[in-house]
Amino acid sequence: MEMQGSAVDTLLGGIEAGGTKFNCVVAAGVDDIRERASFPTTSPEQTLSKVAQFFHESSQRHGAVSALGIASFGPVNLDPTSSLYGYITQTPKVGWSNTDMAGYFSQALSVPVAFDTDVNGAALGEHLCGAATDVTNFVYVTIGTGIGAGIMIDGKLINGSMHPEIGHMLMPRDNRRDPFNGNCPFHDNCLEGLASGPAIENRWGLRGQHLEQSHPAWDLEAEYLAVMCVNLTSCYSPQRIILGGGVMDQTHLFDRIRAKFLSLAGGYYPQVSESNIKKYIVAPKLVGRSGEIGSLRMAQHLYNNKNVIA
Ligand code: ZN
Repeated sequence: MEMQGSAVDTLLGGIEAGGTKFNCVVAAGVDDIRERASFPTTSPEQTLSKVAQFFHESSQRHGAVSALGIASFGPVNLDPTSSLYGYITQTPKVGWSNTDMAGYFSQALSVPVAFDTDVNGAALGEHLCGAATDVTNFVYVTIGTGIGAGIMIDGKLINGSMHPEIGHMLMPRDNRRDPFNGNCPFHDNCLEGLASGPAIENRWGLRGQHLEQSHPAWDLEAEYLAVMCVNLTSCYSPQRIILGGGVMDQTHLFDRIRAKFLSLAGGYYPQVSESNIKKYIVAPKLVGRSGEIGSLRMAQHLYNNKNVIA
């Protein structure tokens, strides 16, 4: 896909800011990547200065970027009228609460900065060139260290008063079957606390990749994620639900989730049936690239609109 600017070589920057690493890219389009780099997420001071240094050095090799898109882990402040716009707010990630992400890079690199959640960035990437190019209503969920979702309705990502926090929807839990009430510091029985990668590890004492496919962990995991899919279907009436993130590397989960979805849904949703559920609950197509493409698209959009937040 082309990303058109006013000049052939308009360069854009993208940052996929994750809790584990920051992936950075300089590109003239999603198919014209000039440079990539990745930095582990340590302290904000160290991480942000390394990322800024990468863009400074890259500008000497390729030229300066005209706009930067940041798709960040959160929670984040996306209210453009707030003095804390572009900040990571209260996060369980140690040391990162109240970090000014957008402001830091707009000052350090003197560029306009587009800022959104990591999951919105990934959803945008999947919509542009991945598993959601043919729909305008869908949910992209990542199930990994945390659980979060980007929700597109009528072609627009929704943020509302803050941004959706799918990971903290409250879940039914059968205490006899699952006595673990979750590892979220804020809630008992929320989805992230029960079904994220760390939840699996805390409940069973082993990381997910060390649990056999026959382990009861996976039936339980599929059940929680199927409940989530039913709830998302009830709330947003999406045309598709994309499930990504490290936990979904266990690809056997997809069919289990689909089967439980059909059973829990009770035939209530005519748009989802046994014949089309494989097209309804799907894997991402841009594994490892959706955040990069989404952050570049955010930068492109900002550049095109000259909507400078610097
Ligand atoms: Zn929670």
